[in-house]
Amino acid sequence: MTELSEQAPPGSATPILVFDNVTKVYNGAVVALDSVSFSLEKAEFSFLVGASGSGKSTLLRLILKELEPTEGRITIGGRELGRLKRKLVPMLRRNIGTVFQDFKLLPNHTAAENVAYALRVQGASRAEIRQKVPEVLALVGLTQKMSSYPDELSGGEQQRVSIARAAVNQPPLLIADEPTGNLDPDTSVGIMQLLYRINVTGTTVLMATHDREMVDRMRRRVIALEDGRLVRDERRGGYGMDD
Ligand code: ADP
Ligand code: MG
Repeated sequence: MTELSEQAPPGSATPILVFDNVTKVYNGAVVALDSVSFSLEKAEFSFLVGASGSGKSTLLRLILKELEPTEGRITIGGRELGRLKRKLVPMLRRNIGTVFQDFKLLPNHTAAENVAYALRVQGASRAEIRQKVPEVLALVGLTQKMSSYPDELSGGEQQRVSIARAAVNQPPLLIADEPTGNLDPDTSVGIMQLLYRINVTGTTVLMATHDREMVDRMRRRVIALEDGRLVRDERRGGYGMDD
Protein backbone atom coordinates (compact mmCIF):
# COMPACT_ATOMS: atom_id res chain seq x y z
CA MET A 1 0.00 0.00 0.00
CA THR A 2 1.35 3.42 0.87
CA GLU A 3 4.01 5.00 2.99
CA LEU A 4 1.45 5.62 5.70
CA SER A 5 1.11 1.95 6.50
CA GLU A 6 4.86 1.32 6.48
CA GLN A 7 5.18 0.96 10.22
CA ALA A 8 2.37 -1.51 10.58
CA PRO A 9 3.63 -5.08 10.11
CA PRO A 10 1.67 -6.95 7.43
CA GLY A 11 -1.44 -8.68 8.68
CA SER A 12 -1.37 -6.92 12.03
CA ALA A 13 -4.47 -5.38 13.52
CA THR A 14 -2.90 -1.96 13.99
CA PRO A 15 -5.73 0.57 13.82
CA ILE A 16 -5.56 2.94 10.90
CA LEU A 17 -6.46 5.90 13.13
CA VAL A 18 -6.11 6.47 16.88
CA PHE A 19 -7.27 9.48 18.91
CA ASP A 20 -5.74 9.33 22.36
CA ASN A 21 -7.26 11.87 24.77
CA VAL A 22 -7.37 14.60 22.16
CA THR A 23 -8.40 18.06 23.29
CA LYS A 24 -8.68 21.07 21.02
CA VAL A 25 -9.15 24.54 22.48
CA TYR A 26 -9.49 27.46 20.07
CA ASN A 27 -8.02 30.79 21.12
CA GLY A 28 -7.50 29.56 24.65
CA ALA A 29 -11.26 29.74 25.17
CA VAL A 30 -13.48 27.50 23.02
CA VAL A 31 -13.19 23.82 23.93
CA ALA A 32 -14.09 22.21 20.61
CA LEU A 33 -12.93 18.70 21.58
CA ASP A 34 -12.52 17.47 25.13
CA SER A 35 -10.34 14.38 25.79
CA VAL A 36 -11.64 12.40 22.82
CA SER A 37 -10.37 8.82 22.45
CA PHE A 38 -11.32 6.23 19.83
CA SER A 39 -9.71 4.18 17.12
CA LEU A 40 -10.72 3.03 13.67
CA GLU A 41 -9.75 -0.38 12.32
CA LYS A 42 -8.77 -0.95 8.74
CA ALA A 43 -11.74 -1.05 6.38
CA GLU A 44 -14.17 0.06 9.04
CA PHE A 45 -17.12 2.35 8.20
CA SER A 46 -18.06 4.82 10.94
CA PHE A 47 -20.40 7.72 11.29
CA LEU A 48 -19.42 10.77 13.31
CA VAL A 49 -22.59 12.41 14.58
CA GLY A 50 -23.49 15.35 16.75
CA ALA A 51 -25.28 18.68 16.65
CA SER A 52 -23.83 21.65 14.85
CA GLY A 53 -20.91 22.96 16.91
CA SER A 54 -20.25 19.62 18.63
CA GLY A 55 -16.75 19.36 17.14
CA LYS A 56 -17.12 17.11 14.06
CA SER A 57 -15.27 19.34 11.61
CA THR A 58 -12.57 20.08 14.17
CA LEU A 59 -11.98 16.35 14.58
CA LEU A 60 -11.69 15.85 10.82
CA ARG A 61 -9.36 18.83 10.40
CA LEU A 62 -7.08 17.43 13.11
CA ILE A 63 -6.82 14.21 11.07
CA LEU A 64 -5.61 16.25 8.08
CA LYS A 65 -3.17 18.12 10.33
CA GLU A 66 -4.84 21.39 9.36
CA LEU A 67 -5.05 21.96 13.12
CA GLU A 68 -2.85 20.83 16.00
CA PRO A 69 -4.37 19.31 19.13
CA THR A 70 -4.01 21.32 22.32
CA GLU A 71 -3.50 18.05 24.20
CA GLY A 72 -3.41 14.39 23.33
CA ARG A 73 -2.08 12.32 20.45
CA ILE A 74 -3.34 11.34 17.01
CA THR A 75 -1.78 8.39 15.21
CA ILE A 76 -2.47 7.48 11.59
CA GLY A 77 -1.13 4.24 10.14
CA GLY A 78 1.28 3.99 13.07
CA ARG A 79 2.62 7.52 12.69
CA GLU A 80 2.05 10.10 15.36
CA LEU A 81 0.94 13.32 13.68
CA GLY A 82 2.59 15.54 16.30
CA ARG A 83 5.94 14.13 15.27
CA LEU A 84 5.32 14.17 11.52
CA LYS A 85 7.77 16.48 9.79
CA ARG A 86 6.23 19.38 7.96
CA LYS A 87 7.56 18.16 4.64
CA LEU A 88 5.63 14.90 5.11
CA VAL A 89 2.27 16.60 5.59
CA PRO A 90 1.48 16.56 1.84
CA MET A 91 2.17 12.81 1.86
CA LEU A 92 -0.24 12.42 4.79
CA ARG A 93 -2.95 14.32 2.92
CA ARG A 94 -2.44 12.35 -0.27
CA ASN A 95 -3.21 9.24 1.76
CA ILE A 96 -6.52 10.60 3.02
CA GLY A 97 -9.41 11.01 0.60
CA THR A 98 -11.58 13.99 1.51
CA VAL A 99 -15.18 14.79 0.62
CA PHE A 100 -16.90 18.01 1.71
CA GLN A 101 -20.44 19.30 1.85
CA ASP A 102 -19.68 21.92 -0.83
CA PHE A 103 -17.85 19.52 -3.21
CA LYS A 104 -14.78 21.77 -3.73
CA LEU A 105 -14.37 20.89 -7.41
CA LEU A 106 -12.15 22.95 -9.70
CA PRO A 107 -14.75 25.02 -11.61
CA ASN A 108 -12.84 25.36 -14.89
CA HIS A 109 -12.13 21.66 -15.17
CA THR A 110 -14.36 18.89 -16.43
CA ALA A 111 -15.37 15.95 -14.25
CA ALA A 112 -12.60 13.86 -15.82
CA GLU A 113 -10.02 16.62 -15.35
CA ASN A 114 -10.98 17.05 -11.69
CA VAL A 115 -10.30 13.37 -11.09
CA ALA A 116 -7.15 13.37 -13.25
CA TYR A 117 -5.78 16.25 -11.21
CA ALA A 118 -5.82 14.14 -8.03
CA LEU A 119 -3.83 11.44 -9.82
CA ARG A 120 -1.37 13.90 -11.30
CA VAL A 121 -0.41 15.34 -7.91
CA GLN A 122 0.36 11.76 -6.86
CA GLY A 123 2.78 11.51 -9.74
CA ALA A 124 0.68 9.07 -11.78
CA SER A 125 1.78 8.44 -15.36
CA ARG A 126 -0.35 9.61 -18.28
CA ALA A 127 -1.14 6.00 -19.12
CA GLU A 128 -2.32 5.39 -15.58
CA ILE A 129 -4.47 8.52 -15.66
CA ARG A 130 -6.00 7.50 -19.00
CA GLN A 131 -6.92 4.15 -17.53
CA LYS A 132 -8.07 5.08 -14.02
CA VAL A 133 -10.17 8.19 -14.66
CA PRO A 134 -12.83 6.45 -16.78
CA GLU A 135 -12.80 3.48 -14.40
CA VAL A 136 -13.54 5.51 -11.30
CA LEU A 137 -16.10 7.72 -13.08
CA ALA A 138 -17.86 4.54 -14.17
CA LEU A 139 -17.79 3.34 -10.55
CA VAL A 140 -19.69 6.48 -9.50
CA GLY A 141 -22.08 6.25 -12.47
CA LEU A 142 -20.82 9.29 -14.38
CA THR A 143 -19.51 7.81 -17.60
CA GLN A 144 -21.89 10.02 -19.58
CA LYS A 145 -20.77 13.19 -17.80
CA MET A 146 -17.01 12.87 -18.03
CA SER A 147 -16.67 15.99 -20.14
CA SER A 148 -19.14 18.12 -18.18
CA TYR A 149 -18.04 21.08 -16.09
CA PRO A 150 -19.17 21.36 -12.46
CA ASP A 151 -21.76 24.03 -13.28
CA GLU A 152 -23.31 21.64 -15.79
CA LEU A 153 -23.80 18.97 -13.11
CA SER A 154 -26.45 18.58 -10.40
CA GLY A 155 -25.39 18.70 -6.75
CA GLY A 156 -25.54 14.93 -6.50
CA GLU A 157 -23.44 14.54 -9.65
CA GLN A 158 -20.87 17.02 -8.37
CA GLN A 159 -20.62 15.06 -5.15
CA ARG A 160 -20.10 11.89 -7.18
CA VAL A 161 -17.19 13.56 -8.95
CA SER A 162 -15.69 14.59 -5.63
CA ILE A 163 -16.04 11.03 -4.32
CA ALA A 164 -14.39 9.72 -7.49
CA ARG A 165 -11.57 12.18 -6.94
CA ALA A 166 -11.21 11.12 -3.30
CA ALA A 167 -11.24 7.42 -4.11
CA VAL A 168 -9.18 7.24 -7.30
CA ASN A 169 -5.90 6.83 -5.41
CA GLN A 170 -7.42 4.08 -3.25
CA PRO A 171 -6.47 5.88 -0.03
CA PRO A 172 -6.35 3.84 3.19
CA LEU A 173 -8.63 6.42 4.83
CA LEU A 174 -11.46 8.57 3.50
CA ILE A 175 -13.08 11.30 5.56
CA ALA A 176 -16.30 13.03 4.58
CA ASP A 177 -17.64 16.15 6.29
CA GLU A 178 -21.43 16.21 5.88
CA PRO A 179 -21.22 15.04 2.25
CA THR A 180 -25.00 14.83 1.94
CA GLY A 181 -25.64 18.14 3.70
CA ASN A 182 -26.61 19.96 0.49
CA LEU A 183 -28.50 17.10 -1.15
CA ASP A 184 -32.08 15.89 -1.14
CA PRO A 185 -32.86 12.59 0.62
CA ASP A 186 -32.97 10.38 -2.49
CA THR A 187 -29.72 11.77 -3.82
CA SER A 188 -28.18 11.34 -0.38
CA VAL A 189 -28.98 7.63 -0.38
CA GLY A 190 -27.06 7.24 -3.66
CA ILE A 191 -24.07 9.10 -2.22
CA MET A 192 -24.12 6.89 0.87
CA GLN A 193 -24.20 3.79 -1.27
CA LEU A 194 -21.15 5.05 -3.13
CA LEU A 195 -19.21 5.64 0.07
CA TYR A 196 -20.22 2.18 1.15
CA ARG A 197 -18.98 0.72 -2.14
CA ILE A 198 -15.63 2.46 -1.63
CA ASN A 199 -15.48 1.12 1.91
CA VAL A 200 -15.99 -2.41 0.62
CA THR A 201 -12.82 -2.05 -1.47
CA GLY A 202 -10.87 -1.75 1.82
CA THR A 203 -10.87 1.99 2.49
CA THR A 204 -11.64 3.04 6.06
CA VAL A 205 -14.45 5.64 5.93
CA LEU A 206 -15.30 8.21 8.59
CA MET A 207 -18.35 10.27 7.69
CA ALA A 208 -19.61 13.24 9.71
CA THR A 209 -23.33 13.75 9.34
CA HIS A 210 -26.48 15.24 10.76
CA ASP A 211 -28.66 12.85 8.86
CA ARG A 212 -30.37 10.72 11.46
CA GLU A 213 -32.47 8.64 9.13
CA MET A 214 -29.45 7.62 7.12
CA VAL A 215 -27.43 6.66 10.15
CA ASP A 216 -30.32 4.64 11.55
CA ARG A 217 -30.76 2.84 8.26
CA MET A 218 -27.09 1.93 7.76
CA ARG A 219 -26.56 0.16 11.10
CA ARG A 220 -22.88 0.99 11.24
CA ARG A 221 -20.58 2.17 13.96
CA VAL A 222 -21.65 5.53 15.37
CA ILE A 223 -19.29 7.85 17.24
CA ALA A 224 -21.30 10.65 18.83
CA LEU A 225 -20.02 14.02 20.01
CA GLU A 226 -21.77 16.41 22.34
CA ASP A 227 -20.12 19.74 23.12
CA GLY A 228 -16.77 18.26 22.17
CA ARG A 229 -17.09 15.15 24.30
CA LEU A 230 -17.37 11.65 22.91
CA VAL A 231 -20.63 10.55 24.45
CA ARG A 232 -21.35 7.36 22.55
CA ASP A 233 -19.49 4.80 20.45
CA GLU A 234 -21.65 1.97 19.23
CA ARG A 235 -20.67 -0.77 16.86
CA ARG A 236 -24.03 -1.02 15.11
CA GLY A 237 -25.80 2.02 16.32
CA GLY A 238 -28.48 4.34 15.14
CA TYR A 239 -28.40 8.08 15.55
CA GLY A 240 -29.61 7.54 19.06
CA MET A 241 -31.07 10.02 21.54
CA ASP A 242 -34.32 8.81 22.97
CA ASP A 243 -36.49 8.50 19.91
P1 ADP B 1 -19.32 20.88 13.92
O1 ADP B 1 -18.54 20.55 12.69
O2 ADP B 1 -19.79 19.68 14.68
O3 ADP B 1 -20.46 21.82 13.63
P2 ADP B 1 -16.99 22.46 14.68
O4 ADP B 1 -15.85 21.55 14.86
O5 ADP B 1 -17.07 23.26 13.44
O6 ADP B 1 -18.35 21.65 14.95
O7 ADP B 1 -16.99 23.48 15.91
C1 ADP B 1 -16.83 23.08 17.27
C2 ADP B 1 -16.71 24.32 18.14
O8 ADP B 1 -15.51 25.01 17.84
C3 ADP B 1 -17.83 25.34 17.93
O9 ADP B 1 -18.08 25.95 19.16
C4 ADP B 1 -17.21 26.33 16.95
O10 ADP B 1 -17.78 27.60 17.09
C5 ADP B 1 -15.76 26.32 17.38
N1 ADP B 1 -14.82 26.62 16.29
C6 ADP B 1 -14.71 25.92 15.12
N2 ADP B 1 -13.72 26.42 14.37
C7 ADP B 1 -13.19 27.45 15.06
C8 ADP B 1 -12.12 28.37 14.81
N3 ADP B 1 -11.40 28.31 13.69
N4 ADP B 1 -11.86 29.31 15.76
C9 ADP B 1 -12.57 29.35 16.91
N5 ADP B 1 -13.58 28.52 17.20
C10 ADP B 1 -13.89 27.58 16.30
MG1 MG C 1 -18.92 20.91 10.70
